[in-house]
Amino acid sequence: MSDTHADSPRPTRPAIAWIGLGIMGSPMSENLVKAGYDVTGFTLEQDKLDRLAAAGGTAAGSIAEAVRDADVVITMVPASPQVEAIAYGPDGILENAKSGALLIDMSSITPRTSVDLAKAAKDKGIRVLDAPVSGGEAGAVEAVLSIMVGGEQADFDTAKPIFEALGRTIVLCGPHGSGQTVKAANQLIVAVNIQACAEAVVFLEKSGVDLTAALDVLNGGLAGSTVLTRKKDNFLNRDFKPGFRIDLHHKDMGIVTDAARNVGAALPVGAVVAQLVASLRAQGDGGLDHSALLRAVERLSGARL
Ligand code: NAD
Repeated sequence: MSDTHADSPRPTRPAIAWIGLGIMGSPMSENLVKAGYDVTGFTLEQDKLDRLAAAGGTAAGSIAEAVRDADVVITMVPASPQVEAIAYGPDGILENAKSGALLIDMSSITPRTSVDLAKAAKDKGIRVLDAPVSGGEAGAVEAVLSIMVGGEQADFDTAKPIFEALGRTIVLCGPHGSGQTVKAANQLIVAVNIQACAEAVVFLEKSGVDLTAALDVLNGGLAGSTVLTRKKDNFLNRDFKPGFRIDLHHKDMGIVTDAARNVGAALPVGAVVAQLVASLRAQGDGGLDHSALLRAVERLSGARL
């Protein structure tokens, strides 16, 4: 018997089902195709299914068809109700995936929903990780997302090569639901940061300072942030095409507000920003990028919209 590895077959990559091919799910699933995985996808929009097929994946006609032969099922849908809709019921993932499959939910949802899903899946022999992400559409396209994971160490180890094709900072944060708790904190920090940047933009413009120069130098100092780097052009060009929709950030501010109340943590500044996000949405801006918080500050300051 030879002791060289020359004849050993390459380890087979798990077959992947991807449910939810939106702003994030499309580029993320395509990165897995590029990394050599077989990806079968399902989503509600036909053009997104066509896009996956054109990228080298396989378009399925239903969740059941997508997950039937999958070793790993990844979900990336808007919120808890959609995760429950695709996971449960006769047409859902738990009824139709193989026993032994690993279900990785990368949507941003309530920690409670993730814990409940892990329990329900265990009865079917399906393992679960919550693995929400941060980094936005650009982070998804560039495969540099931060991935915050909740669940068992062994399942995390199984999923690690998949995560490495999607992101750069990949951390197991604790048991089921922990990834979502960390993501809720992430959304708090991002919203407050955008709000501070938006207030600075209005202040600088009203003061007659060159905004491009000001944001450049601010971003080089302690006030600099990934938010400012990624959203600077949105502010400068009043370009609020999503990106990350206000509707979704409103959902996330609800998650963090509720989770913080449950553990007795006060979020006074977060509460104000949550109200501003809600107000923007109530005024019809829910479909805009979250950098549109600038519009809320402009309204308050009587500045240009
Ligand atoms: P999106 O609205 O662009 O996409 C959601 C996708 O889910 C859609 O393609 C839709 O067809 C699919 N979907 C919904 N219900 C479905 C069902 N029953 N069956 C199959 N598919 C279904 O949303 P997105 O911006 O890609 O966000 C997805 C998740 O990622 C959200 O939880 C969001 O909070 C989170 N997130 C988004 C960003 C961002 O910048 N967009 C960044 C980090 C995290």
